[in-house]
Amino acid sequence: MSGRVVVLGAGFGGLELSTMLSERSGGEIEVTLIDKGDAFVFGFSKLDLMFGNETADAVRMPYAEIAKPGVRVLRETVTAIDPETRQVTTDAGTHEADALVVALGADYDFDATPGLLEGGNEFYSVAGAERLAEVIPTFSQGHAVIGVAGAPFKCPPAPSECALLLDEELRSRGVRDACRISFVIPLPTPVPPSPEASAALEGEFAERGIELIAGRRVNALDPERSVALLDDGSELPFDLFLGVPKHRAAEVVIAGGMTEDGYVPVDPATLETRFPGVYAVGDVATAGVPKAGVFAEGAARVVAQALLAKFAGGEAPGRHLGQGTCYIEFGSGRVGSVDIDFLSGPSRTGSFNAPSAERVAEKERFGSSRRARWFASE
Ligand SMILES: Cc1cc2nc3c(=O)[nH]c(=O)nc-3n(C[C@H](O)[C@H](O)[C@H](O)COP(=O)(O)OP(=O)(O)OC[C@H]3O[C@@H](n4cnc5c(N)ncnc54)[C@H](O)[C@@H]3O)c2cc1C
Repeated sequence: MSGRVVVLGAGFGGLELSTMLSERSGGEIEVTLIDKGDAFVFGFSKLDLMFGNETADAVRMPYAEIAKPGVRVLRETVTAIDPETRQVTTDAGTHEADALVVALGADYDFDATPGLLEGGNEFYSVAGAERLAEVIPTFSQGHAVIGVAGAPFKCPPAPSECALLLDEELRSRGVRDACRISFVIPLPTPVPPSPEASAALEGEFAERGIELIAGRRVNALDPERSVALLDDGSELPFDLFLGVPKHRAAEVVIAGGMTEDGYVPVDPATLETRFPGVYAVGDVATAGVPKAGVFAEGAARVVAQALLAKFAGGEAPGRHLGQGTCYIEFGSGRVGSVDIDFLSGPSRTGSFNAPSAERVAEKERFGSSRRARWFASE
């Protein structure tokens, strides 16, 4: 039995999977990790970038720094996936796999929200966050709208964090009284799995004068009139629009015939697709967990165990439990968190930990430990 594993996408899922396969098989399993980019950036770094707290150079982790036994990192763009034969085509050639792991994340469907890029801004890509670092300091009066264009979207607390961090930024410049902030989210509450986290966020919004418009989606922007059009037909005029675009799997995954309703269906316990030897982890999959790095990583560990058992005689894999901690920036250096447990028991739970200094240190360790594990040379 060979052990050629091809991993598509070097994000949270692909990086953890490749690291674990290398570490546990001592390089015996041949891993090809393919990504179109040249560096990894944490999702939460986009908030740091847009509010000018970090530079793009500081948050980039170049793939060229990865040196793990058995792992080959290729900078190529995946152009076709044949899940039946496990053959992948890229702009540089073809790759055959004994096991194929699709970890291409969720892509943004900007066209689904007409006017979003012409009339507003998005903060979910590095480029969008960098552009906003120039725009936000020039906003000193008027109406700022933070608007989400569809669910599911990555990291459910992120737009709430954006609203609180914008409030903090405007206060620090002494212009908050000249500004109004509204926050439009298609979910019924800011973080539905955790009523306590939602209540804490709603309390902060009320205290800071941020208007929450829950259960509403932004359908389009009218750039001529600087107006956001919501899904109930109402209009919201804005001077600054900070948007979360609609998400879906990358075009190449959809074209490969692997998706249903925009994402790849998998067995939530094993992350296997309906194609033998083909797995999907992270945001690209419908796996019964929120779209967040911590779950992509947990899913990758389960698949790594399965592949180690198959190709290197490792222990039989456990099942994906859908557990992980999501950190929430409350502004003014305060960080809270939600401990999510979606698949281990009969019901989904999300317990809230109030902002504290301990949480700030935990979030810091969350980032630095991943950076060291995935990028430091062994
Ligand atoms: C503002 C914001 C804040 C966030 N905060 C948090 C947080 O605090 N905690 C948390 O856990 N998560 C957070 N997230 C979510 C997190 O970033 C994602 O859920 C996570 O990155 C998903 O991991 P993944 O491996 O599925 O995909 P990704 O990390 O998105 O990786 C996918 C990779 O595939 C590559 N790719 C795509 N298409 C192709 C192609 N055709 N060819 C080659 N390569 C391709 C991409 O370049 C990318 O590197 C946040 C996200 C945002 C936007």
